[in-house]
Amino acid sequence: MKRKRVVVLGATGSIGESALKVARDIPERVEIVAMAANSNAEKLAAAANELRPESVCLVDKGKIDILERALAYQPRIFCGEEGLCEIACLTSADMVLVAIVGTAGLRPALAAIEAGKDLAVASKEILVMAGEIVMREAREKGVHVLPVDSEHNAIFQCLDGRASEIRRIILTASGGPFREMPRPKFDSITSEQALKHPTWNMGPKITIDSATLFNKGLEMIEAHWLFGVEMKRVEVVIHPQSIVHSLVEFADGSTLAQLSYSDMCFPIQYAITWPERVANTLPPLDFSKLAKLEFFTPRYEDFPALSLARRAGETGGTLPAVMNAANEIAVAAFLDGQVRFPSIWQIVERTMNEHASVAHADLEAILAADQWAREVATRIAKTSHR
Ligand code: NAD
Ligand code: MG
Repeated sequence: MKRKRVVVLGATGSIGESALKVARDIPERVEIVAMAANSNAEKLAAAANELRPESVCLVDKGKIDILERALAYQPRIFCGEEGLCEIACLTSADMVLVAIVGTAGLRPALAAIEAGKDLAVASKEILVMAGEIVMREAREKGVHVLPVDSEHNAIFQCLDGRASEIRRIILTASGGPFREMPRPKFDSITSEQALKHPTWNMGPKITIDSATLFNKGLEMIEAHWLFGVEMKRVEVVIHPQSIVHSLVEFADGSTLAQLSYSDMCFPIQYAITWPERVANTLPPLDFSKLAKLEFFTPRYEDFPALSLARRAGETGGTLPAVMNAANEIAVAAFLDGQVRFPSIWQIVERTMNEHASVAHADLEAILAADQWAREVATRIAKTSHR
């Protein structure tokens, strides 16, 4: 089996770092042919100097000279958003790992599909925003979309090609740091508290999404598109230990689950080496030390993100893109200290309420809805109380 040649978009982030770990762990199976980052030129150069991809890309054009000075060899250098699309189409690449926070990965992902590359998708936001388009384009081009998000990777492993017989998909959620906090205390939650995830170590945006449960809401819509399953068959269960990464109940009542420690190297490696399983140095589960595995029903009333996401996913059209964009604005406002924690879902809900969804929207309509939602959510955030 030859090495998989991978382009990593978002190489300096949490997922990007884990992807580079996988490449170090099984170098005979993975070759990083290109890496991209937004603005951290030094960190990108350090990773490139070690793994020597043939191309690197920095979106922030103002920092290209820092990148050039820090590089110890001469890769091809790309820059700007157009650079992301260019390295996503490199002839030397088999697969593009999209691990950019937010929606900036959408155009490069579509460019990669157009160029016939398989996609490994960590950026759930692009599937929430434009899942119908991404999956249709991938089908038409005959390329694979491999889920990196741990829950979806777990479902993908459980399904193993049996998609038509699914009765329910059950996404597990850790519940975040406020799983047991009484609702009246939510108003005083600080960003420091919200940024402390109990089981996963991730970038700031997804960590806040895990605290509000918007992360799980986004993942419900992500599952709907990735596996072609109606929203009503996608459920959520709270599992504080983050060992069972998700479950699939089949038509005959049997349920399969995937288990491992909470380390993103597991799903990233499987997405890259699929359909093969490759020996690595990751620790297998030690059942003698797993005291218990618990499962609870979510507190739907106290965490409205789940119901908002269900509504967005069931309505479809441009509403998921609006929910996603409003959430990005609201999370940024919370991290800036402009709004309180519960304002995050209040801003999202008010933005969704103002939107008239366009069914089966094309890319242009989706991008317009995304932009509209950012403006509306910014206005609402300004009038929200601190
Ligand atoms: P992060 O904040 O740690 O890293 C973000 C990466 O994206 C960085 O490399 C940054 O340079 C790059 N980036 C940011 N804006 C960009 C832009 N405009 N253009 C190009 N590159 C840009 O984020 P993360 O935690 O690694 O998450 C990345 C994605 O993976 C998110 O969509 C997240 O929801 C998803 N995800 C993450 C985890 C996790 O464990 N961290 C798990 C599941 C899914
Ligand atoms: Mg996840």
